[in-house]
Formats: sequence, C-alpha cells, structure tokens
Amino acid sequence: MYTDNHNHTKHFSSDAKMTAHELIDTCKAKNMRGVAITEHYEGDYPHDIGAPQIFDIPSFFESSKEWEEYAGDLPLYRGIELGYQKHLCGFYDEMVAKYPFDSVIMSNHLYKGKDPYFFRDMYDADMNVAYRAYIEEMADLVEGCNNFDIVGHYDYINRYGPYEKPQIKYSQCPESFDRFLSAIVAKGKSLEINTRSVDKMRRKGLTDTLPDPEILRRYYELGGRLISLGSDSHSSDTLCIHFPEVAKYLASFGFTENSYYVGRKRMGEPLLP
Ligand SMILES: [Zn+2]
Ligand SMILES: [Zn+2]
Repeated sequence: MYTDNHNHTKHFSSDAKMTAHELIDTCKAKNMRGVAITEHYEGDYPHDIGAPQIFDIPSFFESSKEWEEYAGDLPLYRGIELGYQKHLCGFYDEMVAKYPFDSVIMSNHLYKGKDPYFFRDMYDADMNVAYRAYIEEMADLVEGCNNFDIVGHYDYINRYGPYEKPQIKYSQCPESFDRFLSAIVAKGKSLEINTRSVDKMRRKGLTDTLPDPEILRRYYELGGRLISLGSDSHSSDTLCIHFPEVAKYLASFGFTENSYYVGRKRMGEPLLP
C-alpha cells in the first residue's frame, strides 16, 4: 500500500471528523505504508464561519508526540496544509521554517477572495473563464512562494462546480496550465493528485472523474516527475481512497513514484507494486 500525503484530524482542523487515533487505526487496518497529518492553516481567511481556520502549531507538535507513540510501526508525518494568498507567501515561508514539519502543502481555497465551498456564485461565470483565473492564481502562487513541497488539489475549483461536466481540463486554459506546471517543475515541487476530488465527482454520479490525461501528459512533457497522492481525508472512511486505481492510471503516463516527505526531504515509493 501507499503513503497518504494529505489528511486532517478534528483536533486541529475544524471541518474534520476523525481523531488521530481513528486515523492511525484505519491506516494500520488498511496496511498503509505511512500517513501525513496536514491540518488546515488559513491565514487571513476572509470568511467568519464560526470556527478558527488556523491552529496553534506548538500544540500540534506536542500532540503529535503521543500520536507517534500510538502509531508504533506506522510512519506518521507532521505536515501542514497552508491556504495561500499572494500576500502571505513571505509570511508562510518564514513561519514553516520555524518548525520541524515533514511536509508543507500549498493550497488555494479561494477564488477572487471567496471560498467556492461557501460561495457558489463564482460559478455564475463562464466555466472556462473561472477555471482559467483559478489556474492563473495557482501559477502566481507557485512562482511567488518558495517554502512548500506539494501543490495541493489544483482541481479544487471543480469540486463544487454545478456544471454538467465540471472537470477541469488542460484544453480550457492551456497557456495557464503551461505556466502553472512549468513553475512546479522549475521549483522542484510535487503535484498532488487529490483523490477526494475524484471521490466527490463519483459521488455526484459523474463518470469522467480521473484527472484529465492532457494535464498529466503535459506535466510529464515539461519535465514533471514528482507526483504526490493525497486522499484529503476528513474522516477515516476515505483514507487512501482510490489510490491503487489512480496509481495505475498515473503509471500509464510514465510516472513511477509517489513522493512523500520526511523532514522536508523528498522520498519516493513505487506507484506500482
Ligand atoms: Zn484543501
Ligand atoms: Zn485538505
């Protein structure tokens, strides 16, 4: 089995339902190779949703000692999922340098300053216009920030799209994707393949749910070799969800490894057994 690079617990992520012990028990039951806990940290989150979107980082490291003991043989990595906005790049670059994180995920949960999870009006725009703007923002962030390892869910924008075929495609904004993917390659970062996005679309009854082959082909063509699998689990039932299927799919494009991080150093495990 695999290392799952992207997960949340209820202790530090307000929208998560599982405890760290539930996460660890399930990883063991599923015979997973390792797991990263990557709590949400959204600096300057623009919405008041009645719960803090940041957490106390020293408390997280304190708690993780007990989790690690409970995990025993299961490798447990301490990560963080940062909600980036352009003005936070410098702040985040310095913040994460102060702590012994294993991995840092760069995410963008906002479109023009609003989270599409809560505000669906962004989808009133033409789909291609909205998706292009989101990928342009992602490209800006990858180009402008430095201290991160994995670029999280580039397809966040299509999770809540009300369109008949909401999946984000290379053909919708090829120049923007080229800029975004080239920046990832140039900086030596890893592109996350987020299986929660796959799962969400399947639950809607959609059939075209695996990441767009053109995006993967183009990334590979531009020199991209680093891929990280993340289930983005908020409850234990989705840990490692669809990993074997998605890994096989990724291998068909030439990718060979699932990248995970230990002390911010990249490690690889084979995508195929
Ligand atoms: Zn996220
Ligand atoms: Zn997440």
